[in-house]
Amino acid sequence: MEVTLLGTGDTTGTPTIACDCDTCERARDPDAALRERLADRGVDATDGVERSRFSVYVTNDTTGESLLVDVSPDFRHQFLRAGVPLPDAAVVTHVHFDHLDGLGNAYRLFDDLPVHAADETDPVTGESVAEAIGSRYDYLDTVSVHPHTPSEPFEVAGFEVTLVPVTHPPLLCYGLRIEEPDSGAVLAMSGDTCYEVPDRSREALSGADLALVEGLVHAEACEFHPKGGAHHDDEGVPRTFGTKHMTLSGARDFAADIEAADYRIVHTAHFVPADRAFDDDIAVDGERFSL
Ligand SMILES: [Zn+2]
Ligand SMILES: [Zn+2]
Ligand SMILES: [Zn+2]
Repeated sequence: MEVTLLGTGDTTGTPTIACDCDTCERARDPDAALRERLADRGVDATDGVERSRFSVYVTNDTTGESLLVDVSPDFRHQFLRAGVPLPDAAVVTHVHFDHLDGLGNAYRLFDDLPVHAADETDPVTGESVAEAIGSRYDYLDTVSVHPHTPSEPFEVAGFEVTLVPVTHPPLLCYGLRIEEPDSGAVLAMSGDTCYEVPDRSREALSGADLALVEGLVHAEACEFHPKGGAHHDDEGVPRTFGTKHMTLSGARDFAADIEAADYRIVHTAHFVPADRAFDDDIAVDGERFSL
């Protein structure tokens, strides 16, 4: 399994438009030491380093097929930059803008793009993720929606894929377990979530070769959230920022909880201070992994 991180940022991305914070400035113009560290991670940061809106591209070593996880508003830029072929299918974790609104790019690029998503009705919206995609993109003949029951594996692009319920109030959201049957390689993704995830879902995400775990901000940022932080560790450090995202500490604890052989933190915002925002375990666009 080959994993390419197309987009590793939150909903505004890094750098954020019109932001001159130290983290955005450092992303636009990385110093030599940071460029060197990123080169060691396989990322060319000559023209800056980026965390565009979330998307991950997964290739099946056996069948050559590829699966796109979430369809970023930065779709066009991401595919041109990464130089990967268009995917054979997509999975969408939830209906937030940064994970779905690139789907309009399917126009003229695809003859058919099967989009897989959960069939569970969200009590807040009255529709499932699959139904929401179907109604928002009903004008695109190239998009076909395939609903699936959460926690039940299905096959797509030669992978065994499971939508794993996580906690991202007020919307339903899903993490993913993606297994390549021939090699047994497993990629786990937390999706957008707070730290408190059902035990059954933690089990489904456990033991992966690589886990991509959401971590939005540093724990100290909780004091600026109107709801503060939640799910504190033994030292009183919040693992949830507000109600729907993890802190960096929460993400690190979550990766340890699910016993991933390796992990990267994804969906990180520009609010993380510049001297910590590019730590080696926080993903940047363009990183690739072979599992
Ligand atoms: Zn900024
Ligand atoms: Zn979200
Ligand atoms: Zn998001």
